[in-house]
Amino acid sequence: MRQSSLVVVANRLPVDDSVAPDGACEWRRSPGGLVSALHPLLQQTPATWVGWAGGTGPAPTLADVDGVRMHTVPLAHDDVRDHYEGFANSTLWPLYHDAVEQPVYHRRWWEAYQRVNRRFAEAAAEAAEPGAVVWVQDYHLQLVPELLRTLRPDLRIGFFMHVPFPPPELFMQLPRRAELLLGMLGADLVGFQRPQAAHNFAQLATKVLGLAATDRRIAVGERVVRIGAFPVSIDMREMEALAGRPDVVRRAAQIRRDLGDPQHVILSVDRMDYTKGIEQRLKAYSELLAAGHVKVRDTVMVQVAVPSRERVEQYQVLRDRVEREVGRINGEFGRVGEPAIHYLTQPFDRAELAALYRAADIMAVTPLRDGMNLVAKEYVAARVDGGGALVLSEFAGAAAEFTQAFLVNPHDLEGLKSTLLQALQASEPDRAARMRAMRDHLRVHDIRAWARSYLTALDQSGVLVNRLTT
Ligand code: UDP
Repeated sequence: MRQSSLVVVANRLPVDDSVAPDGACEWRRSPGGLVSALHPLLQQTPATWVGWAGGTGPAPTLADVDGVRMHTVPLAHDDVRDHYEGFANSTLWPLYHDAVEQPVYHRRWWEAYQRVNRRFAEAAAEAAEPGAVVWVQDYHLQLVPELLRTLRPDLRIGFFMHVPFPPPELFMQLPRRAELLLGMLGADLVGFQRPQAAHNFAQLATKVLGLAATDRRIAVGERVVRIGAFPVSIDMREMEALAGRPDVVRRAAQIRRDLGDPQHVILSVDRMDYTKGIEQRLKAYSELLAAGHVKVRDTVMVQVAVPSRERVEQYQVLRDRVEREVGRINGEFGRVGEPAIHYLTQPFDRAELAALYRAADIMAVTPLRDGMNLVAKEYVAARVDGGGALVLSEFAGAAAEFTQAFLVNPHDLEGLKSTLLQALQASEPDRAARMRAMRDHLRVHDIRAWARSYLTALDQSGVLVNRLTT
């Protein structure tokens, strides 16, 4: 077994597997944002990425990807059902997103969560050389830091939570709340998207575990665990280059022609998930149509909703409801050759997404709760022409950074309608000034800045970060 001085541990490997054998479609791009961010570092170190390749049964042996070693963790059918679909996506996911759907608790799922976390921790322990830095990602693997510390006390361990971390009132529901907190506290540095999440975590450490905690540090026995906010970002340069490619510019113009050259194109791009506020947005749009505030010929809505976690019942129910509503709206307001909503469930590749972003006058990103929402950042990055307008939910992590977006509370239907209208009717100079400010912010706070700030905090010796040159 080859060992590395940097090990990234994530539920999925950064390899392409758009449709997993369990039917779940995880359309995170590959290489994803994390890979692009860490690419120079991962290659030079050289690093190992520990994760699941999708599928069940024995782990396939994968070749290195761009110099990064792939260490596959096998999952059996029961592991996928009870860990991935169960505890991760039917217990933690809804609870962490304000319980907008009812979290489900099953003891069998907890067993699987422990079992799978142990397997990831063992794989990381094997892959790490003495004194290595190990960076564990997200809610699927909250027990890994502590399990890994027990196996390998020599390691420097980081944990980053990509999704929201809820306030104590919600987290306290979890039957295994103490174990989950202790699992994360095995890390040297626990990172979140927003300061509020770090605050929630500190409060829980005191309330549940009786530990002395501030929003920056938690004392765990002899150790001090540092905590903080590190808002994740995207590869701005890559998206700008893509959006500026002549074929993408031509494709954007073609999309507008195909849509009938309307005055306004409103776009939404979501994973089909109840946290994304798709139903609320459709309702707002349908009321705007009914009241005559928007007309089908002038304005076209494009909703991309890529199915995900399709074996989880709440996702099946949601898809049915969304499709019924799209059908109703098109039946009621569309005309022959002119649907009110263009509804697409196929996953798009990066170039097609960039073209869609460039074709859209309004990007409506209105989740009920979202850790960050990368689509909002990608839209801003893609607008190299300085055009477009972003309607953004206050409950997306991105709202803390994009204060110049048309911000909205997606639970407030009247507010949602008026904000969409405001964005549609805004003057060009107003839109341009907002877009410029958001682009300036993103240029400085891109994915590289994120990786650098997190790893600087984790590896205070500075050895790793000095290799993050570009
Ligand atoms: N995405 C994609 N193809 C699609 C739709 C989305 O590659 O057809 C990508 C999108 O560009 C973004 C990611 O999927 O990078 C979604 O990330 P986000 O943070 O917006 O939501 P999540 O799915 O992580 O909740």
